[in-house]
Amino acid sequence: MTDPIIVIPCSGIGKAFGTIARDATYSVVEDLKKGTTETICLSLLVMGDEEAGRLVKSHRCIAVDGCPNECSKKNLVLSGAKLAANFRVVDILRDHRDLKPSAVTFIDEAGRKLAKILADKISTRIDELDQEGRVSK
Ligand code: SF4
Repeated sequence: MTDPIIVIPCSGIGKAFGTIARDATYSVVEDLKKGTTETICLSLLVMGDEEAGRLVKSHRCIAVDGCPNECSKKNLVLSGAKLAANFRVVDILRDHRDLKPSAVTFIDEAGRKLAKILADKISTRIDELDQEGRVSK
């Protein structure tokens, strides 16, 4: 088995897009790519947790952010992580303007669809990274 890819969503409390980033990450880690991906709490990295820092430096990481502030991507870069890809909910919404979520504290139907589209995109990128990894070995 290859090393797991670490998928790290932003914390996004109080923002619908952050909630969608987390939901998409859970779909990938617990369902679509279960067993080949893991996630960690972004706050651990922000606090300088040594184990979290070692993990992101030694494994390929994917940042999943809600908005252009890119809190996950920026903190991964600051931590010296192996950043292999990054996604933003706002970019997915740009291509699916009919799926604008209306709620902040829970995911409505539009938000669920948006999270599913994002999870599928992350999953496809993981397949590509696995393929690239095999080719370069
Ligand atoms: S990227 Fe945006 S939604 Fe996510 S934690 Fe940062 S400010 Fe909040």
